[in-house]
Amino acid sequence: MENCGCITCDAATKELYEKAKNEGIETVWDRARAMQPQCGFGEMGLCCTNCGMGPCRIVKVSKDGPQAGICGATEDTIVARNFARSVAAGAAAHSDHGRDIALALYHVDDKARIKDEEKLFKLADEWGITVEGKDTVQVAKEVAEKALGEFGKVFGNLLFLKRAPEKRIKLWEETGVASEAIDKEIVRVLHSTHMGCDADYRNIIRQAIRAAMTDGWGGSMIGTELSDILFGTPMPKKVEANLGVLKKEYVNIVVHGHEPTLSEAIVVAARDPELVELAKKQGAEGINVAGMCCTGNEIAMRHGIPMAGNFFQQELAIMTGAVEAMIVDVQCIMPSLATITKCYHTKLITTSPKAKIPGATHIEFDEQKSFEIAKRIVKEAVMNFKNRKGEVHIPDEKSEGRIGYSLEAIIKTLDRVTNTHAHPSGTVKPLVDAIKSGVLRGAVAIVGCNNHKQPHDSCHVTLAKELLKRDILVVTTGCGAHACVKAGLMSDDARKYCGKGLATVCELLDIPPVLHMGSCVDISRILVLLSEVAKYIGGDISDLPVAAAAPEWMSEKAQAIGLYAVASGVYVLLGVAPAVTGSENVATYLTKDIESVFGGRFEIESDPVKAAEKIAAHIENKRKRLGI
Ligand code: SF4
Ligand code: SF4
Repeated sequence: MENCGCITCDAATKELYEKAKNEGIETVWDRARAMQPQCGFGEMGLCCTNCGMGPCRIVKVSKDGPQAGICGATEDTIVARNFARSVAAGAAAHSDHGRDIALALYHVDDKARIKDEEKLFKLADEWGITVEGKDTVQVAKEVAEKALGEFGKVFGNLLFLKRAPEKRIKLWEETGVASEAIDKEIVRVLHSTHMGCDADYRNIIRQAIRAAMTDGWGGSMIGTELSDILFGTPMPKKVEANLGVLKKEYVNIVVHGHEPTLSEAIVVAARDPELVELAKKQGAEGINVAGMCCTGNEIAMRHGIPMAGNFFQQELAIMTGAVEAMIVDVQCIMPSLATITKCYHTKLITTSPKAKIPGATHIEFDEQKSFEIAKRIVKEAVMNFKNRKGEVHIPDEKSEGRIGYSLEAIIKTLDRVTNTHAHPSGTVKPLVDAIKSGVLRGAVAIVGCNNHKQPHDSCHVTLAKELLKRDILVVTTGCGAHACVKAGLMSDDARKYCGKGLATVCELLDIPPVLHMGSCVDISRILVLLSEVAKYIGGDISDLPVAAAAPEWMSEKAQAIGLYAVASGVYVLLGVAPAVTGSENVATYLTKDIESVFGGRFEIESDPVKAAEKIAAHIENKRKRLGI
């Protein structure tokens, strides 16, 4: 794809970016421009600050500069250590999220707060928890305790690793990446990358994989499963997306961040008749809640709450002048929000002790008093309605899509075309049949963030369209999912982008060609789906004609996701190169050699059209090997 020089392919974003320019308000794109040229040492991963003798850097352009750190660490060691630390940070973020959800489940004292009892009992059974003679609350407590044990248990591997196909489990054991306790693996990365510890780049990456695995098959999976138990397993529903979901006459509350415990409580509080009445007294027509980033995905998937936008739209939402409160918890919240809210009436409300922002109002969220605190926060927003200043500018841009494709929802959808006289329902058979027959060539997960190094949303959308026309089904999560729903790819109309085979499958199953599977922690749903399909064909995940892509990734969490996907046997295409190019050995290992060990590898390709070609070639290659 030619880089058109545009910052985004999204009309609402363009419109508000222009507004920001006219009003002299600085945005992420301005700060990115001011940062040019970005430091080459950092970009290649060649800078080390791991001890007081440093900072050290390796000079690649000339042999006269330092070729090792003061301690003697080579470029391979420094690059691998930096990469491993980023992966550990990403895994820590997702896993701590999972821990908070497990704690929320542990503290449940009323059966009514468990929205998916069936899933709770299924998980209890999977984990060998006896349920006879116990009530739901007791079972929830025991499941939560077991989940919490995953973070610090002394012996044994992660429980969810057992969900993988047998061949994969064996491979993990043989290669020494069958992770143990979540916190332990993350601490080990920090330990082994301390000055004077591990200097073997392959061993450092092995430990990074162990940490990454505690994300996908640990913290993220715990987060997803327990969120479904607490708040309900997503099922297909309609949703509106983009900044046009904000309503001029309403009190607008944007919930942004990650953990559903906060946003769920806000959704309930915003429906409280007392608060709605109060909003009316302030001159508003009611209260409108909209979600941003992964919190947006969580509440959209479960309640159909409108999706205001993704990572690069958080600053712009405030510039509409229509947001009474932006309520945030943890992760991907730009500290710049505090500066921008000062130009408008918007209140930035932080709620987590783990993420405070100078200049924001802090109202600490406490799971024990969730409704009470949520009401207090919503009231702050309501009372702020009359403080609007200047003109409200909401772009007239919104799309509609169908979302809510949890694994359970996908299986239910597949049941519609299962001949129950001949085959049992509740399996992935129809999906496998479609892939085997070639009507569907394969499936790709498009995940990840926005990054100024790529035009906003454009790579997600172009890549998705390129795959659809090749009869490749797309599943998506995170900010990639926001991009796709905004571009109309989750509507029935999107069948026009599909090849004949995929269009027919969508029609038969009554699904959009891009399936929204949730937030970033919900990538664990994709792992389980892949495992189910691999088990069904009696193979391994690495046998499947599938791939993953993060065309606009930026966060450390995305690096952890990429690495656990590779270790799970998936080909992962990145649109932005991670900071590993300073070491040829590390870069070659991650993009080539690692495949002979795990069956998955990284590929770097910034052009989404070329990325689609590479992914399609990979898929056809897998099909050939399967003999289909
Ligand atoms: S650990 Fe080695 S390379 Fe890193 S800062 Fe210290 S001396 Fe320099
Ligand atoms: S996709 Fe990236 S930017 Fe978006 S919420 Fe997830 S980690 Fe944050």
